Amino acid sequence: MTHLKTEEEIHLIKESAQLLGKAHGEIAKLVKPGVKTSVLDSVAEEFIRDHGGVPSFKNYNGSFPASLCISVNDVVVHGFPGNYELRETDIVSIDCGVFYKGFHSDSAYTYPLEGVNENTLLLLDRTYESLFQGIAQAKAGGRMGDVSFAIQSYVEAFGYGVVRELVGHGVGKNLHEDPEVPNFGKRGKGVKLAEGMVFAIEPMINMGTRSVVQERDGWTIRTADRKPSAHFEHMVAIRKDKTEVLTTHQYIEENYAYKWRNRSR
Ligand code: MG
Ligand code: MG
Repeated sequence: MTHLKTEEEIHLIKESAQLLGKAHGEIAKLVKPGVKTSVLDSVAEEFIRDHGGVPSFKNYNGSFPASLCISVNDVVVHGFPGNYELRETDIVSIDCGVFYKGFHSDSAYTYPLEGVNENTLLLLDRTYESLFQGIAQAKAGGRMGDVSFAIQSYVEAFGYGVVRELVGHGVGKNLHEDPEVPNFGKRGKGVKLAEGMVFAIEPMINMGTRSVVQERDGWTIRTADRKPSAHFEHMVAIRKDKTEVLTTHQYIEENYAYKWRNRSR
């Protein structure tokens, strides 16, 4: 069952999302070749706790070992930090969640390091754009399938694979709530979108096959063909007359040295 949020609850979720956005901004300062992914994780955790929040992912399901999901190259999602040092040709998805003032927030961004080839940058551009194609369809009176279809049809036109096994989700007092937000579907189908819904839209888009495999660690999800995968995530609130994006990538874009979205193509 989907819990519809009051204006006051949405306001609190936005505060949580602001703290999350700033934590992402701190991480953005450190994303460069040679940085250990465990360092990114400890910086994020410290920043969140110093500001009165709790990392939502840490001990999720009693077992997730970190505050960030860090998913490099062919890892789609749920990779975890460790001794790996980022390389110049990597793309790295950083997913973070914050619990603050009683509410969770959740957002993700995939960084290309400066040596990433144009073909992979295009995967990131288009995955990023698909998120906003989905957001544009998230409207009161519409259906979840409108959001799903917008994402799927946009990226499949480029021959990319849309991951089926993992989906976006409602967010609130729990990190994962109803409704599910698939990145594939049919226009006019699925859950009816209503004022007060708050959910995360998070396309996970593969350069090649849509098939994924899970590592033996029980978390890490990789593409079956080992080609790269991109992931961007925002949370939205459905209002009567408009849809509001609650999370922000602003601090990432201000703090990340490589302005890849402004490159000339
Ligand atoms: Mg999420
Ligand atoms: Mg997330």
